[in-house]
Amino acid sequence: MTTAKSATTAKGSKHRAIEVAKLLAVEYPDAECALKFSNPLQLLIATILSAQCTDVRVNMVTPALFKKYPRASAFAAAKRADLEKAIQSTGFFRAKAKNIQEACRILADEYGGEVPKSLDELVKLPGVGRKTANVVLGTAYDIAVGVVVDTHVSRLAHRLGLTKQKDAVKIERDLMAQLPQKEWVNFSHRLIHHGRRVCTARKPRCEECILNALCPKIGVKEKTATAGTAPARAITKRASVAASRR
Ligand code: SF4
Repeated sequence: MTTAKSATTAKGSKHRAIEVAKLLAVEYPDAECALKFSNPLQLLIATILSAQCTDVRVNMVTPALFKKYPRASAFAAAKRADLEKAIQSTGFFRAKAKNIQEACRILADEYGGEVPKSLDELVKLPGVGRKTANVVLGTAYDIAVGVVVDTHVSRLAHRLGLTKQKDAVKIERDLMAQLPQKEWVNFSHRLIHHGRRVCTARKPRCEECILNALCPKIGVKEKTATAGTAPARAITKRASVAASRR
């Protein structure tokens, strides 16, 4: 049963989510996926490789990889040992090579080498969960079916009081409920940027953060959660820019 208090709280976090999205849009108008790719297949492979690995590392590996294996059929026909060697530095390379090869076999056999455009089809591919499917659909096809929840989105959604959930699928559901669908793709790109640059895992820089004034800083130790006064002027200024663009 929804109590008056929980309804108010839900309304409050929805309002906050929308304000967060507006401020992030001002701060990071051009935020995009950090993985380098030139077609949906490359983005799918790069996203599989990015599990437990930095995007920087993946971007170091993929140019040679995509040159060597330009199509799904080429990945499918590769010698497993060669593929493992090519992606070794991204970690968990045996499991990743197996998943990439099996996924590419399905793409080559059932989809003419193309990456399908539906969540249901994508999550049936080996090594592809909702997060990877959301990245591919949102970034390569501009189809918003969900919000990408990675480690940054998860951490920031908690600190910002937008979710209390731990499970990525439930966090995604909370964020989807609080934001209009047209915001889903850009919101996650921008939150990831903000998590890398300002609201880092170890030391969130609250005093420099554009979201400071509206962030409840849940779980952030007081020492790091400085409710800045001088920077608050910059925040207010940015907020008014956001308001003028609405
Ligand atoms: S105010 Fe602090 S905790 Fe909140 S989003 Fe900004 S850096 Fe993160």
